[in-house]
Parts: sequence; structure tokens; C-alpha cells
Amino acid sequence: MSKNIVIAGAGVSGLTLAERLTSSGEDVSVTVLEKEDCPGGLARTFERDGFLFDIGPHRFHTSDTDVNNYLLEILGDDHVTINRSSNVYMAGKYRSWPLTMKSVAGLPMPVLFRSFLDLFRGKSEVEHPTFADYVISKYGKNIYNYFFRGYTEKFTGCSADTLHIDWAEAGVNRAVIDKNVKTDDLFSLLKSVLIPKPVSTAFYYPSYGGIQTFCDKQAERIQNNGGRIMYGCRALGVETVDGRVSGVETADMGVIKADHVYWSAPVSILFPDAGFRFMDTLLCNIGLSKRQNNNYQWCYFGQEDILFSRLTVPRNFRADTVPLESDSLIVEITLNNQEQRDNPKILKDRLIHELEGVNALRASDIIFIDWQVVPQTYPLYDLDYRKRFSELLLPEGLDLTGRCGSFWYNNMDHSIGEALAISSGQVYSKDFWK
Ligand SMILES: Cc1cc2nc3c(=O)[nH]c(=O)nc-3n(C[C@H](O)[C@H](O)[C@H](O)COP(=O)(O)OP(=O)(O)OC[C@H]3O[C@@H](n4cnc5c(N)ncnc54)[C@H](O)[C@@H]3O)c2cc1C
Repeated sequence: MSKNIVIAGAGVSGLTLAERLTSSGEDVSVTVLEKEDCPGGLARTFERDGFLFDIGPHRFHTSDTDVNNYLLEILGDDHVTINRSSNVYMAGKYRSWPLTMKSVAGLPMPVLFRSFLDLFRGKSEVEHPTFADYVISKYGKNIYNYFFRGYTEKFTGCSADTLHIDWAEAGVNRAVIDKNVKTDDLFSLLKSVLIPKPVSTAFYYPSYGGIQTFCDKQAERIQNNGGRIMYGCRALGVETVDGRVSGVETADMGVIKADHVYWSAPVSILFPDAGFRFMDTLLCNIGLSKRQNNNYQWCYFGQEDILFSRLTVPRNFRADTVPLESDSLIVEITLNNQEQRDNPKILKDRLIHELEGVNALRASDIIFIDWQVVPQTYPLYDLDYRKRFSELLLPEGLDLTGRCGSFWYNNMDHSIGEALAISSGQVYSKDFWK
């Protein structure tokens, strides 16, 4: 009898696992359940009138050889290598990120002076440090107040005092993808600015379509290997017999029998009372009739009085993500209230006004705005999330995996790395930011 493996979720994590298991030669029957009508999850791509929009910027970058080899195995020749060019918008100006001497010199003098004094202040030890304690101890109160607090509170919708330090450790490392750029504390940040080391930040991107091309290729392989992907199939929970998993209950297709379940859909579906919260993101995908002057691939916006937290320019990933001579912008806004969630278009006037205010577009060039609410984009790391997660009682034969399944603020390469490890019987370390 072959073993029935059911995977909830056809994101990068579920697909990598299914692809590896179906090509392992083992006697397994693999079924993937996906609530959407396409693969990809957070790494999927929306298309409108010849414009392609990923869910924010999506790049493949890894220092893990196995993950790198796997990426190239799936993409084959269908990839391009691009140099990163990201910005941060501070004090009314676009500045390159990681920060350079030139961009720092343009910051307001009082901020520079007070931050300089912070270098010489003693650090106070806190017993249970929060996000705020952590960032202040690393970068000083001024840089914290000037950038990190506003950005984080706008981005998460939570007070920085109520966030776990993991949010800082994962988040800061995420922004700086080259290990040469040391930003561990104010001294190393200053050193990186004064004596910059050459930064190689090349990353992969598919040579056609958007980031979802990678997932489409995985899905095709799974089906060619005899695996099954059921789209439009919402998993509701797992069924058990004597404390062991026996199947996955679905919304419209009854119970799908399983000897083993890998769950990459949000963990909050299985444990609704455990208090795991996620952020929801509004993407405003804007098609523009003419080229605008945005030279970055993506740019962070920390100011609290600006609605959005990041802008992405798809043509700076690959020129043919927009029709000839056109342009586009992906705007990310965290949805913090029900009114915005129900009718995001109420933000339209403010959005256009602010985009013009930061010179990101000319309103007269807008062809369309495609409003996409993407639920469960980031896990929210509150102060005792680790404890609550460790106390979950899982039935035998159930594993939580991936970004939402294991409540893990990760990147695609981490979801892939974990799935590769599982499929070869190894354990993957999730504290990648340490
Ligand atoms: C704005 C943004 C930018 C990012 N940029 C990058 C980047 O540049 N580089 C990078 O490497 N990573 C990036 N990431 C992270 C990356 O997208 C994720 O790490 C990765 O896609 C997670 O894959 P996953 O399979 O673990 O989870 P998911 O993609 O969340 O997959 C879970 C799947 O489960 C499905 N599902 C949910 N509920 C159910 C249900 N009830 N039944 C069945 N199916 C269900 C979902 O539709 C989804 O397909 C970014 C993420 C965001 C949000």
C-alpha cells in the first residue's frame, strides 16, 4: 500500500515538498490542497492588461548551496541575474539602502548629532527585551525614534513595545541581504557607512512571467510525476483517529484521506483559539501609460504620515513586466481596520496624493489601479508567541511547515530549504537570523 501524503497549501513550501516527494522514487501518493485557483501562495503573480505584479518585491537570494542548486534545477535556463537596487525614503529624500556616506550626510543635523551622542551612552540591560528595547540597545534611541519605531508601528499596526525581539532580528537581517554590510549595532552601521565594503547583492528572477513562474514549473513537475494538486480546495482542519491523523477535512470535497499531513496553510486554522495573528496587506497595483522617474527596485517608507510602507517598480526587475514604454508601481499598505479591508478604494484619493507627494508618479499617467487584498502576509510576533507555539499539541502524523503554517517570518529560500530538509529526513534550523 502506498503512503497517502496530503499537503495543505501550494505555496513555495508545499510545492517544494510535493515536488521532492513525487520525484523521490518512493511509493507515496501525494495530494496538495490549495484554496486559490493557482499555485504560488505569497509568491504568486497578478496579471492585468499585459502588466505583471508580484506580491511586493520578490527576489531569490540564498547562501545555501542546496537551495541554490534546487532553484537552478527548477528554473533551468529560464532565469536572469539582477543586481539589487533598493532605497529608503527619509527626511523627504530617496537614499540608497544600505546607507552610504552621501545619503547619511543629507540627514537633518539634529538627528545626526543626537545619534552620534548615542554611540557613547551606556546600555541598560532589560530582563525580557521587546522589539523596542532591542533596537534601542543596538542603534540608540534617536535612530529608533527616527526610523524603526514609525516604520514598524505603521507596518505591523502594533506598538513596538508589544512586539517580540525576533521581529527585529529577522526584520533587520532581511533588509540587508549581504553579510558584508554589518548593521548589528550603531558602531558597525557607522563603520559600514564610512568604510563601505563592496556589496554583491545579485539575485535570481524568472526570465518570463513573474515570480510565480517558479511555482508554475514546480506544479507542472508534480503533476508529471503523478502527484495531484486540487485547486479551489479549502482545508478546514485535520481528522484524527486515536490521536493519529487520518485525513484532511475540506470545505467542498469532503475528507481527503491521509497517513501524513504537512500543513503550510495558516496555523490559526488548526488552532483558532491559540491567538496567532497575521498581518493582511493591501496591494495597489498601478498601471501607468508612461515611464516615471523611479530608479529603485523597491523603496521603504518609514514616515508615519505616509500611508504605504513600500513601493516596488516591476520594470526594474525585468523590462517586459510592463508593456513597451509603460510603467507600473506596486504599493504595499498594511490593512489595520475593517473599513479599509471591506472597501480599500476609500484610500484612493489619499494614495494618489501621497504618491505624487513623493514623486513616485504623475496622476494623469494612471491607467488603472488594481486593488488586491492579500490576507495573512506576515506572522505577528507578539511577546509570548514562542511559548504559545511550543505548547501546541499536534496529533501524530501532522507537521506544521512554511511561513504561515509554522508562524515563521521567512523568505522563499527558507521555505524551500525547510522542505528540502523534510523530504530528505533532516531537521532545518528556523532561527536563520541568529
Ligand atoms: C510583500 C512580500 C514580499 C516578499 N519578498 C520576498 C523576497 O523578495 N524574497 C523572498 O525570498 N521571499 C519574500 N517574501 C516571502 C515569501 O513570499 C514567503 O517566504 C514564501 O512565499 C512562503 O511560502 P510558503 O509556502 O511557506 O507560504 P505561503 O506562500 O503562505 O503558502 C501557503 C499556501 O496555503 C494556501 N492556503 C491558505 N489557507 C488555505 C486553506 N484553508 N486550504 C488550502 N490552502 C490554503 C495559500 O493560498 C498559499 O498558497 C515576501 C513576502 C511578502 C508578503
